[in-house]
Amino acid sequence: MSLEAKKSLGQNFLKSKKAISAMISAPEISRGDIVVEIGPGKGALTRPLLETGATVIAFELDQRMVGYLKEEFTEYIDNKKLILVHQDVLEVDIKEFTKGKPYKVVANIPYYITNLIVRNFLSNVYQPTAMCLLIQKEVAERIVSRDGKESILSLSVKIFGDPKYIAKVARQYFSPSPKVDSAIILISDINRQYVPNSKDEEEFFEVIKAAFAQKRKQAIKNLSKLKPRSYWEEIFNSLDLEKKVRAEDITFQKWLQIVDKYNEN
Ligand code: SAM
Repeated sequence: MSLEAKKSLGQNFLKSKKAISAMISAPEISRGDIVVEIGPGKGALTRPLLETGATVIAFELDQRMVGYLKEEFTEYIDNKKLILVHQDVLEVDIKEFTKGKPYKVVANIPYYITNLIVRNFLSNVYQPTAMCLLIQKEVAERIVSRDGKESILSLSVKIFGDPKYIAKVARQYFSPSPKVDSAIILISDINRQYVPNSKDEEEFFEVIKAAFAQKRKQAIKNLSKLKPRSYWEEIFNSLDLEKKVRAEDITFQKWLQIVDKYNEN
């Protein structure tokens, strides 16, 4: 059976031992952990994960890879240390597999669905406690606001957890080599403290989506689609924010305060 990489499935196989070991040490994977792996591929990350003594639940869409992994990992599968699932990760009911127990996500993910994967796991009622992901470097930098600018993406991660840039993984450490470099990020301390219920979550996203609708415009101008300008001016004033500030220049902490005030009235 041919195991040639399928571009349509975002298949870029990892061949850096250093990157693999960073992806296991950053989220502190150890014996007894439940780890969800997205797209195990040929198992580059799966084997070292299993060697820590963790139980791995791996979702793989490519039937060829599932067949290959079944042969390579027979023992782990028989011992129920590896639960291999031939399914689209975006359609998975995670609780069915984790049984509501705490788990961590560790994955070199298919880049074409990065945003959906991050969103689905973080906003899930059964969210992981940590996510260690290998993603496009540019996206990793945006999530951690490396340039000091916020975005819908960075805020939609920070509302649930604490993102940290771990390391760059250059394109030559993949086979085939993608067109861009990658980076490992760790999102730790995942919880719903800022958005305990779905209404809080909806309101947070309603406000930030409106504020970032036109990036070049002032936040207040964008937000006046939701409530009159004077309403926002009062809130910004009470929080010592310039009226002319752009959404990307408002910090996560300030966004929490803005949304709090929006919820009050
Ligand atoms: N983990 C392997 C590694 O590091 O070498 C492979 C990583 S490769 C970037 C992404 C993997 O995700 C591929 O094996 C691909 O088949 C799989 N994949 C793509 N879309 C998927 C989906 N929607 N659900 C589950 N797996 C998917």
